[in-house]
This record gives sequence, structure tokens and C-alpha cells, in this order.
Amino acid sequence: MQIAIDGPGGAGKSTLSKKLAKTLRFVYIDTGAMYRAAGLLCLRNGIEIRQEPDKAIALTKKANIDLVIAETGQKILLNGEDVTDLIRTPEISMAASDVSAIPEVRLQLVELQRKLGQTHDVIMDGRDIGTYVLPNASIKIFLTAAPEVRAKRRLAELTEKGEVCDYDTVLADLKRRDHNDSTRAFAPLKAAEDSIVVDTSELTFEESFTHLYTIIKERL
Ligand code: C5P
Repeated sequence: MQIAIDGPGGAGKSTLSKKLAKTLRFVYIDTGAMYRAAGLLCLRNGIEIRQEPDKAIALTKKANIDLVIAETGQKILLNGEDVTDLIRTPEISMAASDVSAIPEVRLQLVELQRKLGQTHDVIMDGRDIGTYVLPNASIKIFLTAAPEVRAKRRLAELTEKGEVCDYDTVLADLKRRDHNDSTRAFAPLKAAEDSIVVDTSELTFEESFTHLYTIIKERL
């Protein structure tokens, strides 16, 4: 069984998917974490991703990016190192967006995503899950919210983690990523034709959860 949850950053995909997966006893797969690990790898090696895509491709090809599924949550490993807690910074968000526009990098990570989708009941979140990675998913949800609302949520998340940042920068970063992700040539961010679009701008987390849970239960 496959449930695809796509949408822009800050719409609530990961927190909602995590809780839905726990409630439904599915495995949650955060595909953004894989692109973030690839972005971290490039930054660590001093690669200017947009200017040197060939270097980014070569480096990612040689690397081992893996997702470990555990009861306590998933871990993302980069060449065996647990980088789960290192990949949530604004700098890595942007690097992930840049590296994810490179088709060769996408194809490498999509292979891993599809493998996971074939071997588990999954709730997979990302940008192209319903349109490209799991086109036959039983349920496809496109989760969105106004950029200003998403920026506020993202700022709260970052501040809680101790990151120092301001609303305007977070909003500008989100908009830039939205633009990058939805205008790239290969597997851009967009709602699948057969997806259910849910706008969480006016909803609390609990309301969003109940709404999604009802949609899924009705269709399962
Ligand atoms: O979801 P998250 O914000 O962690 O994703 C980081 C970046 O990875 C996104 O901005 C997007 O560029 C990229 N991504 C993608 N396709 C996915 C998941 C994430 O292009 N399936």
C-alpha cells in the first residue's frame, strides 16, 4: 500500500505524515532527507552545486545515501554516518533544492525510494511522489498552504531548534525553493492530476490531521 504526500516546504507534510504513519502502522519515508543528505555532501566538499553539477553527480554517485527504518523513527545515513540531525538548516535546505534539480541525482535517489515503496506499506512525502516516484499510489494528497503561513511555521520550527533566523529571510528562502522546485525540468513540484489538494492555511495541526486521516480511511 502506498500513500503519496506532496507539496511545498512548510505545508506540514512531514509532521502530518509521521503521525499518520504511526496511526495507520505504515512506514514513513521522508524523501526530502535524502536530497538534504546529498546537499550536505556537496557542501562538505566545497561544490558550487549550480555551477558544478558534474561534480555533484560524481560525488553523489560514489556516496552511499541510505534510510534506516526503526521503531524510534527513521535515520538518514551518509556513507554510514548518521546525519539525521545535521540536515535541517536553511543552508542545507537550499543545497538540497539545488542538488535535487539535477536529473542524475534524482534518478539515483528515486531508485531507493521506489525500492522502499515496494517492500513496505508506505506514506512517502516529497515533491514528485504522486507524479513520478509512485505514480500508482493508492492515495495521493497534495498538501499546501499560503507562503506566509508556511514561513511562520518554519520559523517556529527553526527557533525551537535554536537556529537564529528572521521571518523575512525564511519567507524569501521558501519562495526561492518553491520557484526552484516547481520550475525544474525533471519531475517538478506539482499536484498529480489524481491527487486530493488540501490547503492547511486555516487549519491547526489537529484539524489537518483529522482531515487527512478521514480522507485516507475513506479510501483505504
Ligand atoms: O521536504 P524537504 O524540505 O526536506 O526537501 C528538501 C528539498 O529537497 C526540497 O526543497 C526539494 O528541492 C527537494 N526534494 C525533491 N523531491 C522530493 C523531496 C525533496 O526535489 N521528493
